Amino acid sequence: MKDVVYVHPPQYKGEEFQNPAGLPRPVVAGLPFPWVTPMGDSEPLFKEVERVKAEMCRSQWGCQVCGYDLATTAWVALERPQDGSPVVTSAAMHQTCLVLAAKHCPVLGDASNGYAFTEVQQDDITASDDETSHEKAPKARWRLRSVSETSRPDRLRIFLSLAQLH
Ligand SMILES: [Zn+2]
Repeated sequence: MKDVVYVHPPQYKGEEFQNPAGLPRPVVAGLPFPWVTPMGDSEPLFKEVERVKAEMCRSQWGCQVCGYDLATTAWVALERPQDGSPVVTSAAMHQTCLVLAAKHCPVLGDASNGYAFTEVQQDDITASDDETSHEKAPKARWRLRSVSETSRPDRLRIFLSLAQLH
C-alpha cells in the first residue's frame, strides 16, 4: 500500500531493515515497530518519527502504525478531550493499531498525560497553525476541528480516555 523502499536501507542486527507496511509489525527490541518509526544506526529510534512517512500518512490518509490505508474513519490521540485540541499522534490510525500503540508506547500509554482518543474522518482534523509542543511528544501538526466545521455537523463526537480504549 504505502511501501517505501530505501535505496540505502538502515541495518538492524546486520541485516537490511526495510520496515515494510502491514501487520503484524516487525518486532524490534521486544516491541512492535511502527511504520513511521525510524531505524537508526542499528538502533531503533522509538522516540522519533520519520517525517516523510508521517507526512505521507497525513496527506494520503494512511495509518502511522501499519502504513496501510485508513478507512473512512480512523483514530487519533488528542492533548485534551475538546474541539480545537492539538492532535498528539503523528497521523491517524486504525482502531486496532491505536490499541497496539497505546499498549506499547510509553507516551500514548501513560494515563498521566491525560490524552483523549477520538474517532475522526479526514475533515475532522486540520493543519495546526500554532505548533504546540509537548514535553514528551512530537510537535502537534494537526488540531481537531469543531464538529460544526466538518461535513457532518450533526454527529456526536465521543472522547475516550486511555482506560476506555480497547
Ligand atoms: Zn494500522
